[in-house]
Amino acid sequence: MSFQALHDEMNEQVANRLLFEQAQQAACAYLDGARDMDAFPSSESLALLGRLDEPMPTSPTQPTEILRLLNEVGSPNTVGQNSGRYFGFVNGGVTPVAVAAKWLADAWDQNAALYVMSPIAAKLEEICEKWIVELLGLPDGTAAGFVSGSSTAIICGLAAARNTLLARQGWDVAEHGLFGAPPIRIIVGEQAHSSVWKALSMLGLGKANAEIVPADEQGRIIPSAMPPLDSHTLVILQAGNVNGGAFDAIDEICDAANQAGAWVHIDGAFGLWAAACEATRHLVQGMAKADSWSADAHKTLNAPYDCGIVMCKDRAALTGAMQATGSYLQFSDNRDGMLYTPEMSRRARSIELWATLKFFGKDGVDQLVSHLCEVARYFAAQLTGHGFVVLNDVVFNQIVMRCDDASRTTTLLEKIQSSGKCWCGGATWGNQPVIRLSVSSWQTTTADIDECVALFVEVQHP
Ligand SMILES: *Cc1c(COP(=O)(O)O)cnc(C)c1O
Repeated sequence: MSFQALHDEMNEQVANRLLFEQAQQAACAYLDGARDMDAFPSSESLALLGRLDEPMPTSPTQPTEILRLLNEVGSPNTVGQNSGRYFGFVNGGVTPVAVAAKWLADAWDQNAALYVMSPIAAKLEEICEKWIVELLGLPDGTAAGFVSGSSTAIICGLAAARNTLLARQGWDVAEHGLFGAPPIRIIVGEQAHSSVWKALSMLGLGKANAEIVPADEQGRIIPSAMPPLDSHTLVILQAGNVNGGAFDAIDEICDAANQAGAWVHIDGAFGLWAAACEATRHLVQGMAKADSWSADAHKTLNAPYDCGIVMCKDRAALTGAMQATGSYLQFSDNRDGMLYTPEMSRRARSIELWATLKFFGKDGVDQLVSHLCEVARYFAAQLTGHGFVVLNDVVFNQIVMRCDDASRTTTLLEKIQSSGKCWCGGATWGNQPVIRLSVSSWQTTTADIDECVALFVEVQHP
């Protein structure tokens, strides 16, 4: 087939819409069945994946055939993130309006690097920044960058911190790098998320240079164990421990940091949203006193993947750290998203984020967060009532549990995972194997919890 023929055929595919109707039908059927689907694919489903093993095709394939194959093999091999019975990692669900907005955005195929590449994406970034700063109660003028997830957002926040702390000592890290730079101190809690360690290693700060502060049994930094702070210090706090959901003593530590002139970054991948809910706001009290923050809209807020946000009180510190130059780049008086992120070309995730925020509104976000927390508390109470041991204080949406001995816990986890009806992951907590449950989807109801707890009981005492 000549390229001209291919070109004509693609235009015909746009005109006759069959392809898009097929995709819409498959997606709607998938969403219709989401509540009833398994939380993890069966072994029969997984065996279908082998159908994709083939050499790279030489000639074009019929698009309707491609979609048919993708639906037949792909749909059964997804995890049931919107089933209401998926509790793995901290994986949020997705709202219908965000999916629909994303479909439209996909058709637009926008590059969010610059205003001149996509006025709509730039405008929505500007609005999302303003709304999120207000929603989370951050200082006026706080800048936000829209990245893939918290792993990247943490790198951006810590880069802004590193550059500022070194600039205070007369060192331009962008120009001179870290060789020969004056030292900065890094204070990290013992239970910091692995992505914090990754960021420290990628930014040349080094894990061994961190002063590690011991944590209590919930995973919170012990405030009295904090070393003295100074204006060359970066303090990394956590709003929401990835296992138990515990929050560091943000208010107290920020006060000490502010007094010393230290920089505070808060990793609040899922927990930062506590600030948007009346019932949980106390958990992040004082967080506006920090200098930078990172969060995921694809977790607690139930926005589609991938949707991470870095926020920085000092706009110039963030844009300075993300700075790019190139004579062909055309900056405008409007928002140029790439100034706030490491990437240049970037998908326009502000579109779905905006749709999510506009759909929920402040009241809806408040209700969503309190719903997740209420369901988690109900889950914990039901588990305790059935003789399981809940190890953490369920202050947010996370539960850490075990059976009465370690081998039973491990067996229970294996049986639950292989049942497919419900899915949760494992971790270690105080050197023992535990099961971790994250209530992160708007779909999860107490009826789902009853079903899952019955499954826990049934697989433990068959
Ligand atoms: C999920 C998580 C991260 C990493 O976020 P990604 O979006 O997966 O990159 C970092 N910190 C905490 C506390 C998390 O829960």
